[in-house]
Formats: sequence, C-alpha cells, structure tokens
Amino acid sequence: MLKQLEYADSILRSDPLKAYEMILELSDILETEENKAEALSIETKALLFMSRIQEALVKSEELMTIAEKNNFLKWKTEGCNLLGGVYFEMSNYDKALEYFMKGLTHARTEKDFQSEAKILNNIGDIYNELDVLDEAYNYFQLSLDMAIQYEVISLIGVTQLNIGEVYLKQDKYDQSLDRIKTAISHFSNYEDYVGIGLAHFTLGRVYKVLNDKDKAKSELLLSINIMRRLHERNNLVLAYEIMIELLVEDKLYAEALEYVEDAMDLSKLLSSKRELGDIALYAAQIYEVQEQYSEALVYYKLYAETRSTYEKDIEEEHQKNISAQINIEKAMHEKEIYRLKNVELRKKSEEIQKLYEDLNTINTISQDITSTLDIKKILYLLYENVNKLMDATLFGIYIFNSETEMIGTDLFLEYGKPFTLGDIKLSDENSNGAWVLRNKKAIFSNDYLREYTQYKKDYNVNRTKHDSQSVILVPLMTGEHVVGAITVQSMKKDAYKEYQFNILKALASHIAIAIKNSQESDKLSLEIQRRIKTQHKLEILNEKLSHMSYIDALTNIPNRRSFVDYFTRELSRAKRQHENIALLIIDIDFFKEYNDNYGHVEGDKCLFLVASLLKKALKREIDFVARYGGDEFVAVMTNIDYDGAYLVAEEMTSNISEHAIEHTYSPIEDVISITIGGYSLIPENDISMEHIIHRADNALYKAKDRGRNQIAFWNDIKDNS
Ligand code: GH3
Ligand code: MG
Repeated sequence: MLKQLEYADSILRSDPLKAYEMILELSDILETEENKAEALSIETKALLFMSRIQEALVKSEELMTIAEKNNFLKWKTEGCNLLGGVYFEMSNYDKALEYFMKGLTHARTEKDFQSEAKILNNIGDIYNELDVLDEAYNYFQLSLDMAIQYEVISLIGVTQLNIGEVYLKQDKYDQSLDRIKTAISHFSNYEDYVGIGLAHFTLGRVYKVLNDKDKAKSELLLSINIMRRLHERNNLVLAYEIMIELLVEDKLYAEALEYVEDAMDLSKLLSSKRELGDIALYAAQIYEVQEQYSEALVYYKLYAETRSTYEKDIEEEHQKNISAQINIEKAMHEKEIYRLKNVELRKKSEEIQKLYEDLNTINTISQDITSTLDIKKILYLLYENVNKLMDATLFGIYIFNSETEMIGTDLFLEYGKPFTLGDIKLSDENSNGAWVLRNKKAIFSNDYLREYTQYKKDYNVNRTKHDSQSVILVPLMTGEHVVGAITVQSMKKDAYKEYQFNILKALASHIAIAIKNSQESDKLSLEIQRRIKTQHKLEILNEKLSHMSYIDALTNIPNRRSFVDYFTRELSRAKRQHENIALLIIDIDFFKEYNDNYGHVEGDKCLFLVASLLKKALKREIDFVARYGGDEFVAVMTNIDYDGAYLVAEEMTSNISEHAIEHTYSPIEDVISITIGGYSLIPENDISMEHIIHRADNALYKAKDRGRNQIAFWNDIKDNS
C-alpha cells in the first residue's frame, strides 16, 4: 500500500475532511488498479463520516466496478460493505442488508476474517436501528468474538460500545455500564479518542435514565470536551441537547443558556434542523419561566419556523436519495439495454423501464405535495397524478383526529367532484376506512362486492351512489401514528394491478408527511398568535400597573410613594455633592368647608385644578410636585437656594389667587387660597428625610396659625432657639 494512502486511512476517523483531501490530491498519481480501489474505499469512508451520502454512493459504485472488472475479491467484499453502509445511511435497510449479506459471503469464501468481523458488526447496526434488539445483540457479539480471535483491535471497543447501547435500550443498565466501561478501556489502549468521546456520551445517557444526574452531567461534560477537541460535531449537538435538558430539569437556567448558545451555533453550522428546533424550544421555555416573554417569543418563532422546514428537509433528503438511486438504476438500465438486444430478454428491459418510470412519477408527485401546506391543494395534486396512473373514479383521503377518534371524509372526490360521507367513528364497524385505520393494514380488492364482508358488516352504510368493484385503501402513517388513509376505487372489476397498489403504498408515507406538515403548521400558527396576544396584553397591563403605582389617580400628578422615592434619591445626591435642597408642603385653606358646601365632586375638581396650577409654578425640569394626601401637596427643588425656593412658593400662591376659584365659605377670602411651609438647606450626612418633612410641616403650622394664605420657611437659627 502507498504510504500516503496508509496515512489517509489512519486519520479517517479523527479527521475525515483531511483524509478526503489527501485522496483527491493523490488521484492523478495512482497507477495500479489496486491503488485506485484502495483510494476509492478510503474516499467513500471519509464521505460517509462527513454525511455526504450521495457522493459516497457514487464512489462506492466506482469501487464495485473496478473490483468486478479486475476480479479483486478483497475489494468486492469491501465494495459490498461500503454500499451497505451507504444504503444504511439512506435508511434503506433492505438494500443495506442485501449488500452486507453479499459482502459476508465474499468474506467467508476468501477467509477474510477481519472483513467478516466488520460486516457482522454492520449487520448488528441495522437490527439495532430497527430495534430488533436480540438479533442486534447476536451480531454484535459474533463480531466481538471474531474481533478478539483474529485481533481486529480497532473493532473490539466499537462492538462493546454497541452492545452497551443495546443493553441500554433493553433497560439492562448494569450490563450496559459494564460494556461501555470495557469499551472505554479498549478505546484508550488503541488511542481511539472518537470512540472514547462516544462512549462517555453513551455513559451519560445511561446515568440520565438511572436518574443519577450528577454522574450523567459529568460524563456528558467529558464527552463534550473530547468531541469539541476532535470536531466530532454530529454527536456533540446531541450531547449538548441532553445536557441542556438535564440543566433545565435542575432549574440551572443560566448554565443551560450557555450550552444553548453553543448548541445553536453548532446546529446552524451543521444545518441540523431537528436539533436546532429542539434547542430553540428549550431556550423559549427557559426564558418563559424567567418571565422574559419577548426573548421567549423570539425562540418560539425560531422553533416554529425550524419545525415546519425540518420535515420538508427530511422529505427533500429522501427525494435526493431516491433520485440518486434512480440515476444508478438508469445507468444499469442503459447497460442492460445495450446487452439485451435479443427479443427474449426485451420483456425484462421493459419491466426495468416501467420501474424506472414509476419511481420517477412517485418522485415528482411527492415533491409537489410536500412543498405545499394547503390540504385541499394536496388533494387535487394527488388526484390529478394518480388518475393518470390508474382509474380513480372515486378518490379520497380520510383524515384521522386522534383526540376525538373521529375520521373526517371532507377530502373525497367522485368523478373529480367533491362529496363527503360525513364524520365516521374509529369504532364504526361499517366503514372500510375505519377498518384500515384500526388495523393499520391496507385493503387491495379487485372484487369488492364479494370481499367487502371482511371489512364491514352492512354494505349499505357509509357508501356512495355507485358500487365500487375494485378498491385500494392504504393507511397513512408517520412512524407508529396513523394520520389517515387514502383510497382509490373503480366501478369495474379487476381494475388494479399489483404495481399500482405498490405505487400507492410508496406514496402513502409522503402523503402522511404532507398532511402532518399542514396540520402542524395550522396548529403552530394558532399557538403563536395566542402567545403574541397574551404578550401584548401583558405589556399593556404592566404599563398600567407601573403607572398606577406612581401616579395619583385624582390629580394625575405623582403620588406620595413617588415623592418618597424621588426625595430619597435627591437627598442623598445633595449630600454627596453638598448642594442645596428645598421642600415645600402646600395645604389648601379651609378645604373642609369647600367640600362640605360645594360637594365632593366639586372638591375633586378643585384638587385637580390646584395640582395643575402648582405644577405650572415649577420652572425647571428637575423640580418636582406630588400629592401628599388629602388637600396636601409637596414640592421638591434641588440645586436652588432659599431665595429661589421662596420665589417658587410665591409663584404658587399667586397662581392660585389669580385663578380665583370661588370659595365664598372661606373665612379669610372668597376664593381658594393656600398656605405653604418650606425648608431649604444643604444637608449634612446625618439629616433624614423625616427630619426635613417635620421642619417644613412645622413652618406650615406656624403660617396657618398666623392666618393662612401665606408662606413660612423654617429658619435654622431662629426656630431652633
Ligand atoms: P386648614 O385650612 O386648616 O387646612 O383646613 P382644612 O379644612 O383644609 O383642613 P382639614 O384637614 O380639616 O380638611 C381637609 C379636607 O379635605 C377634609 C376632606 O373633606 C377633604 N379631602 C381630603 N381628601 C379629599 C379628596 O380626595 N377629595 C375631596 N373632594 N376632598 C378631600
Ligand atoms: Mg387644608
């Protein structure tokens, strides 16, 4: 093997991008076919590690071609193994298994035990992914035994970790911990840091299930640190996600938010929509419990946007994979046509042609329906396309509501015109649609008038005007959940072929996703509207509340509480800066008489008027007047000396008298008048607010005593003596 190839192979797991780039650079100087095969194998693996599946598919096909042309048995095995890996990543498990099995046969004929051990582990991966855990365990264990016997050192840790994962799924936690720890010690001997990082991640998950949160967190932290260093990003996002979940559970919001930021950046970088959505949801919930509604809203929106594009993306990825498969089948098909010139084999060529066309049709239909969120549009798009492929005299989509357990039939067409059978209960024994939803099984009948008894009791219930003699009815599933069913029916007997049934089955998962997308998008937009409304109401309420608690409702000037806040603040500033501060207490004269004679309503009006006249007397922005209570007001002025304060007090008195509010019951005047007590000082540190109020009040009393309608200031020298 070339030195450079050997090196590229050795860094594959820790730095696939670099390995890939090395191979690209080498490609011109590779001379032997053997070397080319070797390089293609490394390139495919690097592409797989980087999740560039389509490219990996092309490269592994190239490898297979070289291996077959030269009859390189070793590379045939490797080619099968890699193709299996590619299809595994595409979630095409049937095909993956087919290739792994082929590879296994090659390896066994060749007595290539290393490859055999690796392929056994890969088959285990398939069963693990499909949750067929006993089988998965058997294959991993077989692989492990071979890895030990034939000293495939790099594989021992991997299989141990895989078994640990299976045990975790089977809730056998002690065994799981055991295996993962063994895996770690193997990875350590072999200095496989990626393996170590993954193993700590799995350990963290086991401890999480065991509710040992501290251990879970410390294992996750370890794996996060390792994976950060190695740029092992795919699993890093998952580790972040679980870490955030744990921190949120413990209400450690600040710490959780730190991971949220890293996780968001990373999932954006990787375009991992599902993770981005989940993390945004956590962020939104964290902000919501902390009552930071506008931040929460931002993340709820991000969550909603990501969610609605996420399933579409999966769908597109699916499409791309299908397209890639179509291209390959097309190439194979062309090769076939070239070879099969004779009539005998033409039939086979036609079959392949048909298969290719059908795949293409399904591809276009599903692209169309998953790019719209409007359910009616989906219905008509489907109808148009399906009607081209088969007789769809009756065509319909049942929509299942899992909360009410009712099945809607609003999306039914007969001869292309809408009609409905009304809502049907899931338990209805006279509906073939309900039967399909209950059993999660399809109906394919070309002689329905005879066979209907398997699906419904009374033929005449839930039926249309015409008799359908051929019926296809397929459930629409997303994962384990049924979201509805699709039916195509014909008035003729024997209307449908097996392959048409297969097309509908192939379409079903795409339709299910399209329907779910459309329903979720409706739900989410309602939810967001609701949140926006609540948020808006809250803002208004908050504003009102803070306004209310600082403003006097009757006079609309600041209240006593506001005065206390303001005065406290200004007093300490005056102390710090050795500046003057002045307080006025203003009281209406004989206001009781006013109230008693003119009534409370007029009294209120008078208070409002007086307040606004007092306010008018203030000259500067920083001067402040408030209602102290009853018919008493206070004014605060800073950075103003005695003369200045006196001038303001005079302005107040004259404002009131100029306005001449009638008060014929006042013993001293026939209009409203006020009396003002004031105190102006440069406050020492030990002077309190109460002290100042007390002195201004004292001055007020004296002025009242002297006959009211006048101003008096406390004089430190005279009044203290
Ligand atoms: P003085 O010249 O000594 O201040 O006499 P006065 O009558 O103004 O003093 P007193 O404190 O006896 O009466 C204040 C009156 O103010 C009592 C009450 O009828 C009236 N008052 C207090 N709060 C309100 C209010 O919110 N609205 C109205 N309309 N009247 C109020
Ligand atoms: Mg009064």
